[in-house]
Amino acid sequence: MTQVLARKWRPRSFAELVGQEHVVRALTNALRQQRLHHAYLFTGTRGVGKTTLARILAKALNCETGVTDTPCGKCGACTEIDSGRFVDLIELDAASNTQVDNMRELLDNALYAPTSGRYKVYIIDEVHMLSRSAFNAMLKTLEEPPGHVKFILATTDPQKIPVTVLSRCLQFGLKQIPPQQIGGRLDAVLAAENVTADAASVALLARAAEGSMRDALSLLDQAIAHGGGKLEEASTREMLGAVDQTYLHVILKALSAQDGAALVAEAARMAERSLSFETALQELATLLHRVALAQIVPGSIAADDPDAAAIHELARIFGADELQLHYQIAVQGRAEIGLAPDEHSGFMMTLLRMLAFAPGAAAAPAAALAPSAATSGLPPARATTAAAAADPSAWAELVGQLGLSAMANQLALRCEMVSRTADLIELRISQADERMFDKPYRDKLTAALRQLLGAKLRVAFVAGEVAGVSPKAVTDRKLEERQAEAVAEIRRDPFVRELIEDFDGSLEDTSIKPK
Ligand SMILES: [Zn+2]
Repeated sequence: MTQVLARKWRPRSFAELVGQEHVVRALTNALRQQRLHHAYLFTGTRGVGKTTLARILAKALNCETGVTDTPCGKCGACTEIDSGRFVDLIELDAASNTQVDNMRELLDNALYAPTSGRYKVYIIDEVHMLSRSAFNAMLKTLEEPPGHVKFILATTDPQKIPVTVLSRCLQFGLKQIPPQQIGGRLDAVLAAENVTADAASVALLARAAEGSMRDALSLLDQAIAHGGGKLEEASTREMLGAVDQTYLHVILKALSAQDGAALVAEAARMAERSLSFETALQELATLLHRVALAQIVPGSIAADDPDAAAIHELARIFGADELQLHYQIAVQGRAEIGLAPDEHSGFMMTLLRMLAFAPGAAAAPAAALAPSAATSGLPPARATTAAAAADPSAWAELVGQLGLSAMANQLALRCEMVSRTADLIELRISQADERMFDKPYRDKLTAALRQLLGAKLRVAFVAGEVAGVSPKAVTDRKLEERQAEAVAEIRRDPFVRELIEDFDGSLEDTSIKPK
């Protein structure tokens, strides 16, 4: 079923060939003027039309109407070449064919006149894969070619062809076919095949073909089958495995708005949909590349591209330098994702880097990200010589068992246990805290302690200089240490240092939050 369209719509004349105008012009001119070379080399990536062009050239040389740039397509030679039955056309694929082993024998045969055609044509695909001895055998024939022999060589890797062979070939470089041209050809095929299709599907297929007409037609075959005889965007996306990229647009907009919370939320939605975070980084880099391109060459995004409107909008929002920076961070993030604790953190850290290094980024975004854990505005308690007599951790443990809420709990966390006996607990509190937590809260704390330890318990509150051992002071200090560690770690990060140097940036310490 697949490959049906690719075979059916394979170009059979120079006029039908899409996207290689410069090669076609040179060849048709030469054919018209009967300026024939004995060896041609077509280079280019896979699927751009090298062997198709070779077969058309073989027809042009052998058409019964005479050597022509417009082979008739009807004569014996033309139809036999089209159906692969022409005896004087020897086609082999150096990548797979065992015939290559008897290259010498094959070429000895070249000395004999063609059986039915004007020329004996050798088409050798992926010629760079020939062995050294096969190249040597071919070189002998190339050095003194019989007048009736034509070589048409094709390769994706011309650099692997010996210079001695290259120098005897007329070389043509075939280009990757732009998506717009592929899309135009697909439209023509769809119309001829009476298949209804939306523009978005065609644009998606044209882009997915990556410059190869053969791949485009083969993808089109699959998309038609997948879509039950017609092309609709959702089904085409699904067939291509191309996830709707609006989540990437959301991420970039959140970045430009410095909205850390929106970034986190979108990453969470991605996790729910089980999207691959590594692929997301790749697609993010691709999108950034397209946005940057749209800034410089607005016409580079086809009008019927499903993402066109979003890309142009992003091109307006972002500065060129921001796009460069985000692109670099995305590419780097993808390279490092294997080292991250897990894909989600690797992805999230990459987005946070973008956020932290966006031009003009301040402390705000990260503050929006991290729940404000320890920002009470109280001056940090200082350890003094007046160390608590009772074990500070014992008080923290006790507070944990009280099940207090809100303000009473805040009071308990700010207290230091000075002493504890069976019937008295003495608590120290700073003078600032004493003003903030007046009688009702102290009564609540006392009641809770009595419930836990006995109704006869007395609780004394002493206001004065604290030792810095209250549960809150201990937690605050731990957070501070972790923050200092996080800052030091970020500052040590070679990638961060490189960014600071390359972009003449500075690090906003308060924007860094420990994990
Ligand atoms: Zn013909």
